Amino acid sequence: MAAPKTLLPDRDSVTTIRADGSRTFLFPADAHGRFATARRWSAFGLIAFYLSLPWIKINGHPAVFLDIAERRFHLFGVTLAAQDLWLLFFVITGLGFSLFFITALLGRIWCGWACPHTVFLDHVYRRIERWIDGDAVARRALDEAPLTAGKFARRALKHTLYVLVSAVITHLFLAYYVSLPEVWAMVRAAPGEHWGAFAFMMVATGVLYFNFAWFREQLCIVICPYGRLQSALIDDHSLVIGYDAKRGEPRGKLAVAKSATGVPSVSSPLTSLPDEGSAKAGDCVACNRCVHVCPTGIDIRQGLQMECVGCTACIDACDDVMTRIGRPRGLIRYDSQKAFTGGRTRWLRPRTILYGILLVIGASVATWALSSVKPANFLVTRMTGAPYIVDDASVRNQYLVRIVNKRSQPARFILSLAGLPDAVRQSGFDGPVEVGPLGELVQPLILQKSRDAYTGPFHFEVIVQDAAGRFRLTRGVEFVGPEARLLRENNKAKP
Ligand code: SF4
Ligand code: SF4
Repeated sequence: MAAPKTLLPDRDSVTTIRADGSRTFLFPADAHGRFATARRWSAFGLIAFYLSLPWIKINGHPAVFLDIAERRFHLFGVTLAAQDLWLLFFVITGLGFSLFFITALLGRIWCGWACPHTVFLDHVYRRIERWIDGDAVARRALDEAPLTAGKFARRALKHTLYVLVSAVITHLFLAYYVSLPEVWAMVRAAPGEHWGAFAFMMVATGVLYFNFAWFREQLCIVICPYGRLQSALIDDHSLVIGYDAKRGEPRGKLAVAKSATGVPSVSSPLTSLPDEGSAKAGDCVACNRCVHVCPTGIDIRQGLQMECVGCTACIDACDDVMTRIGRPRGLIRYDSQKAFTGGRTRWLRPRTILYGILLVIGASVATWALSSVKPANFLVTRMTGAPYIVDDASVRNQYLVRIVNKRSQPARFILSLAGLPDAVRQSGFDGPVEVGPLGELVQPLILQKSRDAYTGPFHFEVIVQDAAGRFRLTRGVEFVGPEARLLRENNKAKP
């Protein structure tokens, strides 16, 4: 079914989904202006940032390298082992509070300017589309035209490029997990040598292709939970993209004629739309340009809507119209809903204060947690079997000390014990140990206390110290055993 020629969105339905549930594919017009330029540069910077992370080395590792096979996670110079992953709770919580705070202040600034989905869709895939199929009018005409050899060639070229770009993004994304040299080795090897990675690449490329070639704004409208959360996070004082109804209404084309001062009138394929105006018109000339550039197909003049991803295209489009008719820019602009109704925006309010406090707490805890990460870690566990062994001469506890070296160089560690009561013999900690690069060493530790000197369970400390004296790690451990009274009675009862 062909897409409708004009978009007439309303607030009771999603423009891109018909009553029967089928999809209306949008052909948003291009918007040019200061926000489009700023977003373009910001997007190129972000794409360069996303794609360069596996190439930039910090402390000998890629800036972001989630080495699942070795269970080492390198993040901007900090190396985390699997045992450190509890720290991510604080990092993710801190990021969550940041998003709350930013949304309460600046609305969906993330969606419009930094979300990878928007960045890649607007600045990579739509660019390819525009380059091959032309502007919005040409794209719509091509879509409605019968399949000819020319149309087939354009479609084939466009989708081939989509698949190639999706495959490149997926390979670079894979480099976040398996390092660039390994990705390169996999690319040169036959798929049969790494079936798992090959299947992942195929599926991920397919998902990206599907999303960016067809699904597009539906991800924001139907799947992304942030759009739904937004209504709970913002209030009338949050910055949003909105329409100044006080200035724009009543809308009508008469405003163009009235304001004509030699400035060319608005030229748009939308001038065929019904005139919504009246004799006395506000600044909105009802050109519907803001609707036609909208990538989610909404009419921002109907108020803030969940589908708005804050892309700023309608601001640029309307600013262009206002400039042409000699009116001030900003009929559609960044402002608070309070300001749009004549009030004053308050930046300091209970929710921004609360989110700000949570953000500071989250960021402080995350900073503390990350700064407490050491280049080694260790765990003490009991050997399998009974927690303690009582023989004729002693009570015995057996442990395994698992030392993890997170550095890319071999490291020597000195192992020692502190807080042991008298008459405890240890075996296992006999001198410095060496652990290979990113390696693990499991060192047995056996403690024995003679039956006669045994007075019950006690606590002690296991200490692992860097041989170069740079750090020292301690763990509290319990020596367990039977009740001392029972053991004494048992001793007496012996022949
Ligand atoms: S682009 Fe501006 S003038 Fe044109 S319809 Fe939208 S708000 Fe009105
Ligand atoms: S309403 Fe404006 S800012 Fe929102 S998605 Fe549409 S064009 Fe972008």
